[in-house]
Amino acid sequence: MKCPICGNKGLKTTNSRSTKSGTQTWRRKSCQKCYATVTTYEKPSMDWLSIKYPAHNTTMPYSRSVLTKSIIMVFDDSELPSANIDLLIDNIEQKIVSSRITILPNIELIKIVLNTLRPISLGAAVKYMASYNTVSNQRQLNKLLKIA
Ligand SMILES: [Zn+2]
Repeated sequence: MKCPICGNKGLKTTNSRSTKSGTQTWRRKSCQKCYATVTTYEKPSMDWLSIKYPAHNTTMPYSRSVLTKSIIMVFDDSELPSANIDLLIDNIEQKIVSSRITILPNIELIKIVLNTLRPISLGAAVKYMASYNTVSNQRQLNKLLKIA
């Protein structure tokens, strides 16, 4: 990468470590020309992951931005400032990575999201669950609530 201050390409990594959730690598780099210090976060791409929608008989590539949008929607405006959405998504991705599944059924993704949301905001978890048409009957809802 280029130095954002002077455009020089000679950036040297001076320090690096994994973030708390383990899905990102934090690096401190130093410009060899102007001595500016730059911090970067590198995360492995999730492009090996697809989400399967059996109800529609389709598989879609996983999208972090789609997931982020669906999660922001279920938080109240008052909760949003204190909810660390980015960290929450990291936790969800970490759970997917450790499950070693490359084609994840949508219902499994919903379960992972619910399990992650529930300790943070029960209201958000319930709203997330309700926003999915996959939960079409009371029995299914009860089943999901039990695991969440
Ligand atoms: Zn520089």
